[in-house]
Amino acid sequence: MTTADYPYRLPATDSADVLVVGAGLAGLHTATLLARQGHDVLVVERRAGLAGAIRTTGIFVRKTLDDFPLPPECLGPPIRRVVLYPPNLRRPVDLVSSRDEYRVGDMAPLYEASAASAAAAGVRIALSTRYAGRHGDTFHLAGRDGPTTVRARFVVGADGARSRVARDLGLDRNHHLLVGAEEVFELPGSDEPPTFHCVLDPTLAPGYLAWVVNDGQHAHVGVAGYADRYPEGLRRAVEQFSASAPGLAGVDRPEAVERRGGLIPVGGLLRRISCPDGLLVGDAAGAVSPLTAGGLDPCLRQSELAAEVLDDALRAGKPDAMSAYDGAALRPHFRGRLMLRRGLAQVRTPAAAAAAFAVLRTPFGRAAAGRVLFGDRSFPDAVRG
Ligand SMILES: Cc1cc2nc3c(=O)[nH]c(=O)nc-3n(C[C@H](O)[C@H](O)[C@H](O)COP(=O)(O)OP(=O)(O)OC[C@H]3O[C@@H](n4cnc5c(N)ncnc54)[C@H](O)[C@@H]3O)c2cc1C
Repeated sequence: MTTADYPYRLPATDSADVLVVGAGLAGLHTATLLARQGHDVLVVERRAGLAGAIRTTGIFVRKTLDDFPLPPECLGPPIRRVVLYPPNLRRPVDLVSSRDEYRVGDMAPLYEASAASAAAAGVRIALSTRYAGRHGDTFHLAGRDGPTTVRARFVVGADGARSRVARDLGLDRNHHLLVGAEEVFELPGSDEPPTFHCVLDPTLAPGYLAWVVNDGQHAHVGVAGYADRYPEGLRRAVEQFSASAPGLAGVDRPEAVERRGGLIPVGGLLRRISCPDGLLVGDAAGAVSPLTAGGLDPCLRQSELAAEVLDDALRAGKPDAMSAYDGAALRPHFRGRLMLRRGLAQVRTPAAAAAAFAVLRTPFGRAAAGRVLFGDRSFPDAVRG
């Protein structure tokens, strides 16, 4: 494949082997792998640019950093230290790993670098272009220059937690969602070791955590939880947390901060994620850890399986190859994490959070927290027959 013009300007009618809807990491990675296998791939993205409206903190775990060649200049300093706090922030549990565990992506250049790799592999990427529906193998798009129809053999729904492609293909959809929001700002540097601070407070983060990531270069201050448990709204919770957030002693929060936010599917991998006409990847497929709400590692790993299955289907000309992409077969790997998610959802009062800390402070509790935070578990590698 040769380098495609980026961004690609769509004509009134077009065609491709595979239409990928959504230029997040899942869509871009799937598209790049398919193009490298010689397939003609068109990605459509409704945002006008990939550096805007970012919806992730961008914490990459060690396993992802080991297995995927992310551009090092787009990654912050390694983080080894995690501090867990009860609602009153007293007597936190300090955990330090002997290995580099996390790095926070500088997401705007990282998305641009992923798009550049995709274009170099020959992927056409059309921005400001919304997928609006399908009729058989004809897909309707609404672009800057008006409506376009594209004929494609397969469609990939990489269009996030509320996937329109999932709906149109009659596949499973996410129903169990958290909402998350954060403020991001630059830091002048720090003498403190890069640290990930997590606060278990069901008022600020009902069913999840409030966080401060301070890697010495950037601060991310955020909360996430169940939408129906934020009576005063998510934005208010971020402001409240930001006023007393740990890990930022001596740091002046600037007037202007970048705001990020979005939905996080935490119901586990969906069961029906493929059909003869297409498949889902990333958030659209529910490929997010129900416990940690991390979706960057799963979306990259799942994209590899998706590209492999689509390659088989395109080469063999047999749509039944798509049945190998089966969420129901992989879902049992998430059983433990789904159970822990149910436990976290039950922490509804500050008293319950404080009681959880009584356990976390014991050697058993610290070891269990260390296994979750510094463990090697990730999205199951392909288990195909
Ligand atoms: C606040 C927050 C913080 C998070 N922090 C982390 C973290 O630190 N680490 C981690 O591992 N995970 C984190 N996650 C989860 C992680 O970001 C996601 O799981 C991951 O980014 C999903 O990638 P994706 O490509 O599937 O979806 P997305 O990145 O959401 O991409 C979907 C794309 O589809 C486009 N799209 C949607 N509909 C259409 C349409 N009709 N037509 C055209 N385009 C469309 C959207 O504009 C978007 O660009 C966080 C999530 C949130 C909300």
